[in-house]
Amino acid sequence: MASNSTDSSGSEKKKAGGIRSRAAVVHETNAPLVVEEITVRDPGPGEVRVRVAACGICASDLHVWRTGEGLAFPAVLGHEASGIVEAVGPEVTAVCEGQRVVVAWVPRCGRCGACRSGRVHLCAAVRTDGSDGSLVLGDQSLGRYMSVSGLAEHIVVSERAAIPLVDGVDLETACTIGCGVTTGYGAASITGGVRSGEQVAVFGCGCVGLSAIQAARIAGARKIFAVDPNRERLALAAEMGATHRVTPDDGNPVKKIQTESDGGVDLAIEAVGGGAIVRQAFDSVAPGGRAISVGLTRFDEQVEIPLVSLLLDKSLRGSIHGSADPIVEFPKLFGLVEQGELELDKLVGPDFPLEKVNDAFEALESGRAIRPRVIF
Ligand SMILES: [Zn+2]
Ligand SMILES: [Zn+2]
Repeated sequence: MASNSTDSSGSEKKKAGGIRSRAAVVHETNAPLVVEEITVRDPGPGEVRVRVAACGICASDLHVWRTGEGLAFPAVLGHEASGIVEAVGPEVTAVCEGQRVVVAWVPRCGRCGACRSGRVHLCAAVRTDGSDGSLVLGDQSLGRYMSVSGLAEHIVVSERAAIPLVDGVDLETACTIGCGVTTGYGAASITGGVRSGEQVAVFGCGCVGLSAIQAARIAGARKIFAVDPNRERLALAAEMGATHRVTPDDGNPVKKIQTESDGGVDLAIEAVGGGAIVRQAFDSVAPGGRAISVGLTRFDEQVEIPLVSLLLDKSLRGSIHGSADPIVEFPKLFGLVEQGELELDKLVGPDFPLEKVNDAFEALESGRAIRPRVIF
């Protein structure tokens, strides 16, 4: 609703149909992100405005910033956000003002074929280059990466994308459930269907890989191989449930996994990106085994698979967002965090203010941080 009154906090001056806010704007491929004052329009029917508390920097934010693939410039990146519902539009029933939420990037339109067949993670409405007019710089509508754009102080999202957080989980830490944790956990538990007693290999021990390792441990996997060149990350993987640590320095990781698993694992999760690692994951699984590719790569990247392997009932499958429906899966993950089963604290940080957002991207790209966060 239009209003020209002064906001009681003094920091946000309302203007007709929206509020003033700040966001990290990326104007072109590889250009540094610039913190700028923007207008965030009021939530419409079925929408809520979220005051963002924290936004994790995910590998796909880094990827699209570096490559420009599928991005509409100028854009606001960030798709792993948590925050507090500050205003609700007409007809909103799922959440209320003041509620703590984790934002889902799956739009869950409810109308497309994927949504109607229960595979909402494949919702046709998901966009990397959407521009819905809710975030405006000057007179220019900003591109919204994955319909979230969490690197803004305020965002407008569908009420279906604002998943209420339980009291026992820290709001800022829970942002990782918005993408990385769900992607890794779901890749193992939902897409990969990991079962008790199975042997599992996880390639890449970032936020996604470490979450997959935790899913395998919680499911009762017998052996969990963590593969990463970084020994500190392998130590963390062991804390989270990995039983075997594998680095390329030890020789061919595939041979090592095959030897120590007596012929190959039941499930391999690739959480790095790139054809070479996907092939390693595929080669690590035994006949009848499943290899799941999660890592984002350039759109023209290829992988070659010997067809004869498929005759051994081996499969290679992709996974997006852990095949998860956020409305169903986020609450399960909140519960696991509350019970101390799922570790998030060691995945997140270091933290940066919005002004240092470029340093947060650098921390991820250099490998210094698993999940740098911008804290608002
Ligand atoms: Zn849909
Ligand atoms: Zn992500």
